[in-house]
Amino acid sequence: MTVQLSDTLTPHQSVTYFFDRAADCIGLDDEMRDVLRGSYRELSVQVPVRMDDGRLMVFNGYRVQHNGARGPYKGGIRYHPEADIDEVRALAALMTWKTAIADLPFGGAKGGVQCETYLMSESEKQRLTRRFTGMIAYILGVNRDIPAPDMNTNAQTMAWMMDEFGKRYGHNPACVTGKPVELGGSLGREAATGRGVVFTAIEHAKRTGVPLEGARVAIQGFGNVGSWTARLIAETGARVVALSDIRGGIYNEKGIDVEAAWTQQTLTGSIVDLEGCDKLSNDELLLLDVDWLIPAALGGVIDSRNAANIKARVIVEAANHPVTPVADAALGDAGVTIVPDIIANAGGVTVSYFEWTQNIQQFRWEEEQVNEQLQKVMRKAYADVASYAENKSLSLREAAFAIAVQRVARAANLRGYV
Ligand code: GLU
Repeated sequence: MTVQLSDTLTPHQSVTYFFDRAADCIGLDDEMRDVLRGSYRELSVQVPVRMDDGRLMVFNGYRVQHNGARGPYKGGIRYHPEADIDEVRALAALMTWKTAIADLPFGGAKGGVQCETYLMSESEKQRLTRRFTGMIAYILGVNRDIPAPDMNTNAQTMAWMMDEFGKRYGHNPACVTGKPVELGGSLGREAATGRGVVFTAIEHAKRTGVPLEGARVAIQGFGNVGSWTARLIAETGARVVALSDIRGGIYNEKGIDVEAAWTQQTLTGSIVDLEGCDKLSNDELLLLDVDWLIPAALGGVIDSRNAANIKARVIVEAANHPVTPVADAALGDAGVTIVPDIIANAGGVTVSYFEWTQNIQQFRWEEEQVNEQLQKVMRKAYADVASYAENKSLSLREAAFAIAVQRVARAANLRGYV
């Protein structure tokens, strides 16, 4: 049974809805549909951690491997209270489609631990990471499954993971990506997702004639992805009029000084008190009268309740699944173009791929080379999708899923999966 459009779809049902549409569009046979709809393996673990005050807390952890037809499983590890099995399953499937669209030799996976990192000390996070890594290590590996950072995890988290993995199986930096540069991380990896978002926006602007220069841009989220997107899009001459983080948003019609916002966050932990800006909520930010809207935080923020009030003409999905299927349909009808997550935010995993190859070759690329190659991959992914969409009169999301599903199905066929 295919997933029907509804207001109450879970994250995984939403991703499956887009998959089903693509499967219909390319005429995928039922057997291959069954293989690609579900996860290959889902590991659920209990992660007990001794907190600094002596209490024991037990967290739920997951690693979901969705599909490995095109290569080793690949995807980040998220620390977030909402990272439950359904969410992680959805994100793992998105990784399969994302690596296929970027044409990287990887499958898709995702990990998550349901925890509130802002309440945890560095040593608590370290103990959590080591314990979790120890529990999932037997399904990981350089040629098997390679984690990376995601929401509330970073290069330090990857250093702990690499160390813990190495204790069991021997040191190999290629077992995780997004590591600190000192430990074999790639130059340019930290900015890569945001840089990829901006490269995609540039391609979209060129192709559609909707200029970025002087355009008014609102970005929701000022974590790794949102902050780098903001910095780099400002360099294109776009006017960033609104930004937000977990504590709220800021607005300045004349354009926010993004570097000042960055400094403000470094100094105070938040951008909300940046001088010269009006305050607004995260919900209000989404409804601003802007040219480009870039959700770069959680999934499902644009749904049936607010879709009709979105004023932006282009939405670039820096976050994973920020637009629900009902909202996607409504926005499409209203003529809003959505550049979907599986193209727009593929820059992170693309530079993860470069990091993995550098580690395997024991060689380091210059940052310039990383960024150049990233641009090439993003350009090609966007062009493949935009041409397919134009030829078949599809939305960019429909086209992206159709191409990705075709590529994965082809690999699965060649391997003789079905
Ligand atoms: N967590 C990032 C994503 O959602 C990067 C994954 C990776 O580098 O493997 O795409």
